Amino acid sequence: MITNIPTPKEFEDISKQCLTQALNLLFKVYEDIYEVKEYVDKDEIWSHNAGTIRTSLILLHQGIETIMKGTICKTSPFLLLEKNRADWPTLPSKSDKEFGDLFTISGEALLTTYCAVENKITIDNDLIAFIEDVRKKRNNAIHGISEIKTTAEELFENILKAFTFFFGKDSWFVFAREYNLVDPIFGFSGDGLEEFKIHTLLDVALDIIGRKRLNNYISLNIQGRGYYCPSCKREMEEIDYHESKWAFLKPNKPESEKLQCVVCSSEFIVKREDCNDPDCKGNVIHDYGDEPTCLTCFQEQS
Ligand SMILES: [Zn+2]
Ligand SMILES: [Zn+2]
Repeated sequence: MITNIPTPKEFEDISKQCLTQALNLLFKVYEDIYEVKEYVDKDEIWSHNAGTIRTSLILLHQGIETIMKGTICKTSPFLLLEKNRADWPTLPSKSDKEFGDLFTISGEALLTTYCAVENKITIDNDLIAFIEDVRKKRNNAIHGISEIKTTAEELFENILKAFTFFFGKDSWFVFAREYNLVDPIFGFSGDGLEEFKIHTLLDVALDIIGRKRLNNYISLNIQGRGYYCPSCKREMEEIDYHESKWAFLKPNKPESEKLQCVVCSSEFIVKREDCNDPDCKGNVIHDYGDEPTCLTCFQEQS
């Protein structure tokens, strides 16, 4: 018998962990760069962190292969076995073997099997080209001693792409947030840290790939002007001043009275009135109890 047969959920969880860690590794370096970006040479920092790029790339590839295995596993985990079927240790005369001790398919065999089974996502040439590109870059990074054929920027966007292809838009920061919430260290730095981290992650992503491309990986339309989220901003003030604005009018129209936050997904009703501060051009006001607040400058309107 073959024992300890894996479930699709196990593969899915491992894939999420790999992709989240791939993103975290790059984010940690970017976070440092972001704080001192005027004074540092980014290329120099990344050349010092070549090992981080390599590890992140390996994790990205692992995350993609694992989610493909999870999908195949829904049809049958036995499709993942490399071994010739005649040699399977399944006859009563054979001793049991754990699934994990048997070789499983990878590379091209994994790709063709993945394309053969039922799948809730659409597989097109773009997805195949993407998977192949990541596989080649990863092979180059682990087999070659030569330089890595990807940049931190390209890798960062490829991680967002993988998340979006396999788990949908927003999943990259939603999983990062879930990961933070289960971290035993989380909570020691006070409330608001979670919002703070995710806002910084979005700021860094915006800085790297720009608003237009970033919108491919976020479900809310972020092309318009950003506003403070009344909820996240108050939470984050517990930690430190944070000026990022990830709430957007929905729809993005001059008369729109609804605002939604990318980070916490909360929706808010807003009034379209000019801010009292003559220096502020804002006209999106949120009633917070008795304290109407301008969501452009966060001044209370008295
Ligand atoms: Zn929010
Ligand atoms: Zn204002």
